[in-house]
Amino acid sequence: MKKLIYFTTLLFTSVLIGQNTYLHCGKLIDTKNGQVLESKTIIVSGDKIISVEDGYTEPSSSKDIVVDLKGKTVMPGFIDMHVHIEGETNPKRYLERFTLNDADIAFNSLDFAKRTLMAGFTTVRDLGGSGVNVSLRNAINSGKVEGPRIFTAEKALATTGGHADPTNGIKKELMENPGPKDGVVNGIDDAKKAVRQRYKNGADLIKITATGGVLSVAKSGQNPQFTIEEIKAICETAQDYGFHVAAHAHGDEGMQRAVLGGVKTIEHGTLMSEETMRLMIEHDAYLVPTITAGKSVTEKAKIPGYYPDVVVGKALDIGPKIQDTFGRAYKKGVGIAFGTDAGVFLHGENAKEFGYMVEAGMPEMKALQSATITNAEILNMENEIGQLKAGFFADIIATNENPIDSIETTENVIFVMKSGKIYKK
Ligand SMILES: [Zn+2]
Repeated sequence: MKKLIYFTTLLFTSVLIGQNTYLHCGKLIDTKNGQVLESKTIIVSGDKIISVEDGYTEPSSSKDIVVDLKGKTVMPGFIDMHVHIEGETNPKRYLERFTLNDADIAFNSLDFAKRTLMAGFTTVRDLGGSGVNVSLRNAINSGKVEGPRIFTAEKALATTGGHADPTNGIKKELMENPGPKDGVVNGIDDAKKAVRQRYKNGADLIKITATGGVLSVAKSGQNPQFTIEEIKAICETAQDYGFHVAAHAHGDEGMQRAVLGGVKTIEHGTLMSEETMRLMIEHDAYLVPTITAGKSVTEKAKIPGYYPDVVVGKALDIGPKIQDTFGRAYKKGVGIAFGTDAGVFLHGENAKEFGYMVEAGMPEMKALQSATITNAEILNMENEIGQLKAGFFADIIATNENPIDSIETTENVIFVMKSGKIYKK
């Protein structure tokens, strides 16, 4: 007991004598109530916000620092629910799986992570890579390298030949026989084993590729690739470990199976029917739009040789439809979780998505809320991130303009603080 009191005293003392940061905010976006507040001071101590006060409070100690953001608009750090932090589009991308070692991937990802953070994205959900993403998350958490807070799916799950089968499109001698360990499942036992393997490997959530996809070397970009029983087995097992499940899906049949099977988010959702929208609302599933990726693949597919031939047709078919589907789903009342698929386009350009969402009919404030409070809830972090409030992590960013008046200002974030540490000023 004596020891406990001693440590508690020590802890409080260090907070009291430590340096606090006072952020003077001309405008502050209250994401919870959907309001833009004026003239506020956020006081940060350690990695947390300790209070938000009216007017511009001056520090009580000479050790404290003041950051003048009186001419800026301040808001919580953005959360992107769909990135691939390990890689980035380039014309040699399809060769990289034969040429890059994990160490190469790790070194490359440092730049991607840093660009993401500097763009104001203080938290991301990584929806699949090689597993280096787990090590990157740990390195960022321990302060060894700079990047956003990462929630990772580690390696995405697919069925044989499915969108995330790592041996798609290569010569047969090299295909071997990937199984649950490599994220390839066929049947219920495999499905359970693959989820447990992700837990063992250090994942935070599960990603499945419920239908074909654009960038895999395979014929269909939309066929259903899991049975509903397999999806149910994945979702039920995931629940045992406190994981939610994200499902990549372009085709409607695979999307319906995913929603009925219990997934939390549908990624892309390109060919979503009205019936599936209704099911998503009923089952409290969210659409992660990834409009930026849709636009990017459409553009890249027009460059000769950028993608393999089998990918070009799929990109030109699916890419242009994503924004329209998003607009219809939003208007129908489907929950929207901001997410971009960064990596399919350049890391750090994530905020382009805001403009595309607004263009498709979502009000600016709703788009900002989608990238903050909605995503925080899905990550079970709603009491820690997504708002500027006492007790929350000090994940704070600022823009020159008020994004409610000009949403493009989100593409130029001029101040970034994550967990109380300033990264950009
Ligand atoms: Zn993706």
